[in-house]
Amino acid sequence: MSACTSCGACCASFRVDFSVFETQERGGSVPDGLVVEVTSSTRRMRGTDHTPPRCAALTGKIGATIACGIYEWRPSPCREFAEGSDACNRARNRHGLAALEGF
Ligand code: SF4
Ligand code: SF4
Repeated sequence: MSACTSCGACCASFRVDFSVFETQERGGSVPDGLVVEVTSSTRRMRGTDHTPPRCAALTGKIGATIACGIYEWRPSPCREFAEGSDACNRARNRHGLAALEGF
């Protein structure tokens, strides 16, 4: 079973930027109310550049039970982020969670 459903660390560690064309406004799937403008061509998940960062779409408690409120509509960086990757383990470390091994 994926460790992600009891983690969520990556959703509260990194800026999540993607093309404006991934937003609903421009024909994509990411809800417009959850994004902020970065440049004319780039959007960011709201909250991911806050201090501390936490995506506005994330519900629950990091390291306990979490969920992405827009899982089916999440942007490409979230779809591509690999469980067990170096970045994953950096995020987990940041939140005091043990590194994943064996990926
Ligand atoms: S930090 Fe890694 S284990 Fe945690 S939710 Fe993200 S991909 Fe999954
Ligand atoms: S959109 Fe979902 S998967 Fe992506 S950072 Fe936000 S909560 Fe995490």
